[in-house]
Amino acid sequence: MKFLPIIFILLSACTKPTLKLDILIEQGSVLDGSGTEAIKVDIGIVGDSIVFVGNRARFQISAEKIIDATGYVVCPGFIDPHTHATADLNSPERHANLNYLYQGVTTVFIGSDGRSSTDIAGQFRKWEEQGIGTNAATYVGHATARRLVMGMRNEAPTEEELINMKTFVRNGMEAGAIGLGSGLYYAPANFAATEEVIELAKIAAEYDGSYDVHMRDESSYNIGLLGAVEETIRIGEEAGLHANIAHIKCLGVDVWDTSDQVIDLIKRARSRGVNITADQYPYTASGTSITGALIPRWVLADHPDPTAKLEDPKMRPLIIKEMKDNIRKRGGAQSLLLTNPSEKNEKYRGKTLTQVAEEMGVEPVEAAVSLFKNGGSSVGSFNMKESDIVNFMKQDWVMTSSDGSNGHPRKYGSFPKKMQEYVLEKQVLNLPEFVHKSSGMTATTFGISRRGYIKEGFYADIIIFKPERVKDHATFQEPEVLSEGMEYVIVNGKVVIEKGKYNGFLAGQGIRKIEKPISATR
Ligand SMILES: [Zn+2]
Repeated sequence: MKFLPIIFILLSACTKPTLKLDILIEQGSVLDGSGTEAIKVDIGIVGDSIVFVGNRARFQISAEKIIDATGYVVCPGFIDPHTHATADLNSPERHANLNYLYQGVTTVFIGSDGRSSTDIAGQFRKWEEQGIGTNAATYVGHATARRLVMGMRNEAPTEEELINMKTFVRNGMEAGAIGLGSGLYYAPANFAATEEVIELAKIAAEYDGSYDVHMRDESSYNIGLLGAVEETIRIGEEAGLHANIAHIKCLGVDVWDTSDQVIDLIKRARSRGVNITADQYPYTASGTSITGALIPRWVLADHPDPTAKLEDPKMRPLIIKEMKDNIRKRGGAQSLLLTNPSEKNEKYRGKTLTQVAEEMGVEPVEAAVSLFKNGGSSVGSFNMKESDIVNFMKQDWVMTSSDGSNGHPRKYGSFPKKMQEYVLEKQVLNLPEFVHKSSGMTATTFGISRRGYIKEGFYADIIIFKPERVKDHATFQEPEVLSEGMEYVIVNGKVVIEKGKYNGFLAGQGIRKIEKPISATR
């Protein structure tokens, strides 16, 4: 009787199917990206894909590399639907996109706020030639189209100009853009009527693309926050495509505590079938520029040198009046922090507009004018209320993003900060929800195929970490400090962060919404 169990083991060993893997991740707590609780399963990778999710004991496994993930969370790499990583991805020094890899982000979207490459096909080619550290998708930009076709004119397009803008969007979508990106808050897109945007969004809709917008107003600048949400819903509804509100927020004192009304508007639209979503970064400060935050849009129109209008004695008082009100809306001069000044303004780095004004010996508005004339500055604008942030975060149509821009710590810290502060400390979300909002939900919402989930047949974009060790270190004083705590980051089946350190591989790919032009078949 003694030898029976031995025979059984031998027999079962012989009958087990064999599985030849490049990488085996064993014994991790796997969150698959769908929002469900973690399960203990093993994951097998061959080439760039996940080929096996299950119990390794059922197989005779040989693997080139085995990662023991006992005690670790294993989940899909994060997807960031709103970044400003274009310059980094195109740079021969910064194309590894390390600030994102160290956050566990394996895919970024660029072309945000309506500003994209003028040559989307060329953008993808450049990434292929040069290599990139994360995957990247891009919008085709409304502002870029308008600027190319109409310059900075504050007018409606002629029929021909609209056709030219449509052609630009179509070419971008044919080349693989993920949708139409827009920044109606900024000039020159601010000069566009809603109808113009609808016409362009219809082109993106033909390709099953999305419409993403930095809304015309997140505050009380022109049509108001609620008006801007209504405009976004209308664009999505009339153009017939998914619409996403980028970095949703209640910006400034005039609209604090209105998140309930915003949520209500969106919920009502969703319940009648409009596909509208939002993304959000976890900071009370937004990041923009002195120009973007304070200079009226009409000042930026038409004239080649907008600062000249400030010399006009008729215009100057009007500009100053509007700027003063814009400073008030954003919470006063002390809530504007200069994070990345122009060369001429360099000595004011790290100072608030109040401090700059004191040093100049002038009123804050005059200090802002002087900064603007000397090339401006990026600013951290402390203008949000924590309760609104939490309220938006809890909605099941809100995803995680960074909106990463130079000078703001969100570029280096958004995902770890959200995990630490809003999952572990404040428990606004649980970990499976956070992972879902940072991977699977984003992939599904924007129609990115075979990413965002731990599933057989999907690309192996995988991160492995202990949540309590994941930390953001970037601050407004030192915004370019990498996050830590990602033990492994795998991009398209290649380990790029191993034992917490980047190893030099460039494993990212350009993600095209459509692989082949479909116009020929229409
Ligand atoms: Zn934006």
